[in-house]
Amino acid sequence: MNSMKTAVFSTHKFEREYLETAFKARQVNYIASSLSVETASLAQGHEVVSIFVSDNASAPVLQIFSKVGVKFLALRSAGYNHVDLAEAKRLNIKVARVPEYSPYAVAEHAVALMLALNRKLIRAHNRVMEQNFSLDGLVGFDMYGKTVGIIGTGKIGSVVARIMHGFGCRILANDQIENNELKSKYDVVYTDCETLCKESDIITLHVPLTPETKYLIDKNCISKMKRGVMLVNTSRGALVNTKEVIEALKSEQIGYLGIDVYEEEGGLFFEDRSEEILQDDMIARLMTFKNVLITSHQAFLTDTALRNIAETTVENLDCFERNIPCKNEL
Ligand code: NAD
Repeated sequence: MNSMKTAVFSTHKFEREYLETAFKARQVNYIASSLSVETASLAQGHEVVSIFVSDNASAPVLQIFSKVGVKFLALRSAGYNHVDLAEAKRLNIKVARVPEYSPYAVAEHAVALMLALNRKLIRAHNRVMEQNFSLDGLVGFDMYGKTVGIIGTGKIGSVVARIMHGFGCRILANDQIENNELKSKYDVVYTDCETLCKESDIITLHVPLTPETKYLIDKNCISKMKRGVMLVNTSRGALVNTKEVIEALKSEQIGYLGIDVYEEEGGLFFEDRSEEILQDDMIARLMTFKNVLITSHQAFLTDTALRNIAETTVENLDCFERNIPCKNEL
């Protein structure tokens, strides 16, 4: 059987070799451009399109896809809040995602943010590079014995819980579904969001972005947190109201912020913008705080995850081509 022609939008250098290995002899057109209304017609002549987490498959984009004959959308991500699923259904474009590629990659990055913030590793390294070997201002805290609040104990949050248990932390969790293994083996205590906020020294977010979770962390929620709390977000930017988080950083209610995702990351993250004038005042303000650590949506970026993303994308495509049920279809 001849493989269907596939257009891969937002192909990045970091993933190209993994995609080429997984796609093997298939007919693939690697497109560097991200997906938008302006670029969607590049899919002309392809029945399959693969998109990255930063691409926006909005209704107008999907309508162009439909006109040029696209039948299947293969997401190279677990999250799917960037796809208008209702419109895809209406246009009879099937959509499949990669629900799990390495929860360890994301969980370990969340912990890396916690440790780097706590032990002020970036400042320490910059000082040493300047031959400043002073330790003043670099005091951290023992993770052992601290309370960590995990919001969302699905695939990623449950790995964070196991790692935090290894550090000797007390673990509070909030999720609609309680994980019995976490309770029995890792002493995780489920509680409501308010109690978790009141009692945690570190709060880490692992829920998906939905209308219900948008701005889950707002000024009301922040006001209930311990003064000087550490907040870590490796999930989706809009889970936190960034403007209100900035106010809380200024008033020192939030003592540390680690983010891998940002509300306005579209059109900013994943590209080298070092020659440009930064237009985003909100991230510019975040960048001025010494107790804020920002990475540009790289929590997933391990070799294991990239291999799994590429392989599952091809498996999803296989199912579509062979017209058999796909467990990853949305
Ligand atoms: P998952 O579906 O396994 O777990 C999500 C958990 O959140 C579930 O247990 C669910 O019950 C819970 N939940 C949903 N709504 C809730 C609510 N309102 N209150 C409390 N709990 C709620 O997902 P996962 O694989 O663990 O991924 C979590 C998120 O991480 C993804 O949705 C994605 O946005 C993000 N992510 C980020 C990266 C990155 O590179 N930064 C990579 C992968 C995933």
